[in-house]
Amino acid sequence: MHYDNVQALFCLILKNQIRTIDEGVETLIPDPDSQQKIFAVQYYCSTKYFCRQQQISEYYSWDGDASAKACSKCDNCVNCIKNNVQDLPDATDDIYELLEVTKSLTAQHPYVTPKDVVDVFTHSKTGDMESKGYLTSEAYKREYTRKVLVSKELAFQALHDLVVSGYVKQACTLKKQKERQMTCSTHIHGVRENAENFIGNKSWVYKAPRKQRRERR
Ligand SMILES: [Zn+2]
Repeated sequence: MHYDNVQALFCLILKNQIRTIDEGVETLIPDPDSQQKIFAVQYYCSTKYFCRQQQISEYYSWDGDASAKACSKCDNCVNCIKNNVQDLPDATDDIYELLEVTKSLTAQHPYVTPKDVVDVFTHSKTGDMESKGYLTSEAYKREYTRKVLVSKELAFQALHDLVVSGYVKQACTLKKQKERQMTCSTHIHGVRENAENFIGNKSWVYKAPRKQRRERR
């Protein structure tokens, strides 16, 4: 399922959204609960190796419920087998660092996208980063060597996970221009208070094909 289809679906079924039309561009700002649901569906669609049935089971489970086993039949389970995917070591240390980078960057800069956070976390050095002033930010200057979230793809997945878990605050605006597909712009605007106190309560395990672990900054 494509993101745009998902967003269009949510716009049709969700209520309590701010809707404005200006020069033919329709802007929708869903209420915070609806936004969290959109992010959860985006995360579900973006995962490549996390069993679909396990994801749904976890979404509706209570704390302390036993986790479901991978079904070995869904597209993601098939991907795991096809790409020789393995569980990576627990990424809790990297998650703490990702949280600190997010906190620092959003405290210094007014409009931070998920890509900005990942670029700073992975120490990208591009013209875009320079023009935004990120290369001299405190977040960029942090000295830390990532142990598990070594690729951008894994960093994006972890950030998305933090958003869906409610530890990183993200907001979205949906725009629709006549006869064009709906677009969704997201920005990160902070970290939940005392989030670092809760990070250690769960394990942060991601999956990757064996070759992906060699990608380092
Ligand atoms: Zn599965």
